[in-house]
Amino acid sequence: MSELTVCLTFDLDAESAQIRQKENPVRISKGQFAIQRGMPRILSLLNKYEINATFFVCGWVAETYPETVSNILIKEHEVAAHGYMHEYLDKLSYDVEQTIHNRTDTILENLGGKVQGFRAPYWILSNYTLEIISDLGYIYDSSLMNEDRPHTYTIPETDKRIVEFPVEWYLDDWILFEEKQQTPSAVFEIWKSQFDAMMEMEDREENRCVYTLTCHPSCIGHSYRIQVLERLIKYMNSHKAQFSKMKKIATDFFL
Ligand SMILES: [Zn+2]
Repeated sequence: MSELTVCLTFDLDAESAQIRQKENPVRISKGQFAIQRGMPRILSLLNKYEINATFFVCGWVAETYPETVSNILIKEHEVAAHGYMHEYLDKLSYDVEQTIHNRTDTILENLGGKVQGFRAPYWILSNYTLEIISDLGYIYDSSLMNEDRPHTYTIPETDKRIVEFPVEWYLDDWILFEEKQQTPSAVFEIWKSQFDAMMEMEDREENRCVYTLTCHPSCIGHSYRIQVLERLIKYMNSHKAQFSKMKKIATDFFL
């Protein structure tokens, strides 16, 4: 049986949205768990299995916790952009949104990460987002749901093209653990069944199937949840999955 490519992706929001929305200390502390416990556990797990992953980081988080970003980059993981304070992009004017992306890009690049990709906070793009990030030189986005395989996407009403890595609600830890309140074993079965199904698709090789998992350090970082991710990695390894950063796939296969 031949290999399947897997992109493990982590959205490092920390408490940026809760601070922006002036929420109460408990809500803020839940976001802080991402930095305190989630990130060390994730980086340790990736190190153990020699996997490189993609981290979508808010500019405010990088400014507030530069050491965490350094710890990501030192292990040669990818840092990509995820808004400044996890904004609802569809609520912003073009100029405000452009300022947010420029600012985040500068912060991440000053920490040593050449940003090439983007994921929308809340998976909500504005009508301008893709054009703005394309103008910043980003080569890919990972926010849309029009497909289940990476592909080249023409940005509407422009002639600009970008590589798109589609996302899916049931391949997102937050939805399953926090919103659907699923047990760890149920989450494992859902994620495993999607991997199995992808492995069985007859056309997967010519269409470059990529299993894209979205996790949040404040969610998956809990001990009983990180075990689910480890179990999944072991299962994928037993099926010779190849783990890759998104920018590498975008560069190797689409540019
Ligand atoms: Zn996010």
